[in-house]
Amino acid sequence: MTRRDRADGTGRADGASGGASAGPAAGGGHHGLAVHEVVLLLESDPHRGLTPEEAARRLESFGPNALPAAAGGGVVRRVLRQFHHPLIYVLMAAAAITAGLGEYVDSGVIFAVVLVNALVGYVQESKAEAALDALRSMVSTSARVVRGGRERAVPSEELVPGDLVLVKAGDKVPADVRLVRQSELRVDESALTGESLPVAKREAALPTRTPVSDRRNMVYSGTLVTSGTGAGVTVATGGETELGEIHRLVGTAETLATPLTAKLNRFARTLTVAILALAAVTFAIGVVRGRNATETFTAAVALAVGTIPEGLPAVVTITLAVGVARMARRRAVIRRLPAVETLGGTTVICSDKTGTLTENQMTVRVLWTPDRAYEVTGSGYTPHGTIRAVPYGGPLARTDQAARWCLLAGAACNDAALTGEGEHRGLVGDPTEGAMLVAAAKAGLSREVVDRAHPRLATIPFSSDRRYMATLHRDTAGDGRLVFVKGAVERILDLCPAEMTGDGDRRPLDREAVVRAADELASRGLRVLATAVRPAGGHDGLSEETLPGSLVLTGLQGMHDPPRPAAVSAVEACRTAGVEVKMITGDHTVTATAVAEGLGLLDGRPPGAVLTGAELAELPPRDYPAAVDRARVFARVSPEQKLRLVEALQDRGHVVAMTGDGVNDAPALRQADIGVAMGEGGTEVAKEAADMVLTDDDFATIEAAVEEGRGVFDNLTKFIVWVLPTSLGQGLLILVAVLLGTTLPVLPTQVLWINMTTAVLLGLMLAFEPREAGIMRRPPRDPTRPLLTGPLMTRVLLVSALIVGGAWWLFTWERGVGAGTAEARTAAVNLVVAVELFYLFSCRSLTRPLRSVGLFGNRWIVVGVAAQVAAQLALTYLPALNGLFHTAPIGAGAWARILALACLASLVVAVDKRFRGRAQA
Ligand code: ATP
Repeated sequence: MTRRDRADGTGRADGASGGASAGPAAGGGHHGLAVHEVVLLLESDPHRGLTPEEAARRLESFGPNALPAAAGGGVVRRVLRQFHHPLIYVLMAAAAITAGLGEYVDSGVIFAVVLVNALVGYVQESKAEAALDALRSMVSTSARVVRGGRERAVPSEELVPGDLVLVKAGDKVPADVRLVRQSELRVDESALTGESLPVAKREAALPTRTPVSDRRNMVYSGTLVTSGTGAGVTVATGGETELGEIHRLVGTAETLATPLTAKLNRFARTLTVAILALAAVTFAIGVVRGRNATETFTAAVALAVGTIPEGLPAVVTITLAVGVARMARRRAVIRRLPAVETLGGTTVICSDKTGTLTENQMTVRVLWTPDRAYEVTGSGYTPHGTIRAVPYGGPLARTDQAARWCLLAGAACNDAALTGEGEHRGLVGDPTEGAMLVAAAKAGLSREVVDRAHPRLATIPFSSDRRYMATLHRDTAGDGRLVFVKGAVERILDLCPAEMTGDGDRRPLDREAVVRAADELASRGLRVLATAVRPAGGHDGLSEETLPGSLVLTGLQGMHDPPRPAAVSAVEACRTAGVEVKMITGDHTVTATAVAEGLGLLDGRPPGAVLTGAELAELPPRDYPAAVDRARVFARVSPEQKLRLVEALQDRGHVVAMTGDGVNDAPALRQADIGVAMGEGGTEVAKEAADMVLTDDDFATIEAAVEEGRGVFDNLTKFIVWVLPTSLGQGLLILVAVLLGTTLPVLPTQVLWINMTTAVLLGLMLAFEPREAGIMRRPPRDPTRPLLTGPLMTRVLLVSALIVGGAWWLFTWERGVGAGTAEARTAAVNLVVAVELFYLFSCRSLTRPLRSVGLFGNRWIVVGVAAQVAAQLALTYLPALNGLFHTAPIGAGAWARILALACLASLVVAVDKRFRGRAQA
């Protein structure tokens, strides 16, 4: 099908956005056609799909399968949003009234500040959002398609109409697809229809007028497959999908709000009201004292604009954005901004075992049968290695029937596939199954041989709840049907009344002996799977009901999964940081315990440290939270139990990070304070539900993200501790002047100058402050603790007092030695900035002395300081700025006094830090 075909009236015109719909999709009519009609219309093939060449042609013609960028209307809205702030209202009112009073220059300056502020806010907000979007796309999604008869994974953007797409539980549907076949397929369509219950799908044609929500034979882009499998032909991609339609209507409304920004906004609103009230009182006092109304009003305005920290919201957003970028560099992609803040306060990390704490690279090490045991050598997915009997070392005999059937079951009841050759040997599918394929290949039972001898007819897929998988095969040697089963030992034992001898005979199952052998393997940290067969004869079909009582146990396979090298040190780092690590696994208790011990999670194994899913289920509700809090390892836990675990830990006051990768993990990921999904091995459903995605699936990355989260919170606190004294100091300075009835030591426009330049050139640089050493040796932040603790509040007041006292004294002194008011004010302005500048270095650490932090550790601060000094020199000596800001050149003596006072102030802060700093750490 070509672009021209669609122009012939068979399709919707595709916009510049890319993506396309085909056939009668303009009316969304594919659901009304039979499967063969859809396939014909889209010139596809229900089994072989498109050829790769045709797919490439269509991609060229229809464009990528991506949603168009948000429309331009967002820009205007975002610009206007910058003005929608109580602080800005005050400034604009001040500018208007100042203009009304004929002070056009001042009014112009205030307006200019409002504009600059809006501009900075706009640019920063756009940048932060773009950064978040870019990060989101780092977690790329791929789709499984059949092209030229071969299954392959392609980036979702490369899907074209006509592509035969395969979906399975956990996938996000990549485009609008008309199903051609399915098995127990259920899809969560809430993203599209708002309906939260999964919808069961089928293939049959439907009446043309069926609404989208009832089109059972279609699956739509952006919806999530919760169970089953399906295959279908793509009918619409990109902007032409139903999701694209919604996207066009709604636009994207990304918010950058987090609990902290919300709290700060509330704080800013309250502050504004308080400041306005104070300004009104100031004005009233001035008037009562019989002072000139214009002058008094100017003072009131100065008080308002001086005290309001204009730069606060922008700096908070930037600090969070810098944190997001840093985390991404350490392979943790933040999907929701609040996670950046919450991470720093994490007190418990609940982590999956397989793939997160371990490599998920399984190799079968032991093959155990009721009569003999073998050791399997070799590593990785290459079939090089030997299978030798223990303890005598003889090779695997061709006549050992139980061992052969055990390996055969492992290879036949298996959905994984080995790919490539030699060094490029790889695996598609589950590593547990990959290991079993390789073990069978080591005995000459390759996948091809097995499939030829026993073609598969039906499957009961593996699920974490069922804990086994079963397949039905034709036995080409005889003429009957065979069933192979593999899974968790206790599940398989429940299904088997008999076991197989080395000669291939049956005898009653010696359950105890099998359990003993399995425990012995598990205690070495091996993951143990049992295999069984149902020989030909008896039942012909495959169902869960017919399995019990009909199977013969063939043996056990014990596989090794090495711990991730960085996990041990990351667990240790978490412990030092007061963050508890709990392992949650579907694996056997003994295996889980051995692995946990190897990772240093169990530490002497205190009572109650290991709990199983069954024990959890039996706990009385009253004891549940305490027991969960105490335990370190949860074994044989089903994904459904994870939600309750998170809730119990939260009940105990914990801030919980929880990992997950499957469909059933989604509720727990949503409930956790930080839901963590796996970028490599996780399903799309889990990623959608998560706050953070690990691109390398590694536990150590969570620890790194917690560390960065703490750094972000530190930097926010540092900025707030730095910015508040300027506001408070300036406000007080003006208030005192009005109360005493003296000339204002700084003017409103000068105050604005100080606020704007220092916030951008000095304060903002704290966002780039590197993490302090020892950040992971502190206990986690108590979420209920206020941002500013007592000692920090005292420091804020102290610095404010130093600013008021210093500026007041200098202003009076300068006037006393004959300087004009403009010169004296210039000196006072320079002093306020100098104190802020020196104080900035002190704020690089809230507890450690400057001597241990150093001056040049953050090169942004060095750049900012140089720029601020240049700005102050310009303000003092450039005639144009002198005119605008009512400043005047000052002499060397004044500079010497400014420096001396700023040094003195720094000394006082250093002493305060020395004696009180430790109290806040
Ligand atoms: P984690 O929760 O740490 O990822 P896990 O991967 O061991 O742990 P599950 O995948 O739920 O958890 O597996 C639970 C049990 O089911 C395993 O211990 C194993 O006995 C069995 N099992 C795992 N994979 C398969 C499979 N592909 N086929 C049959 N049985 C399996």
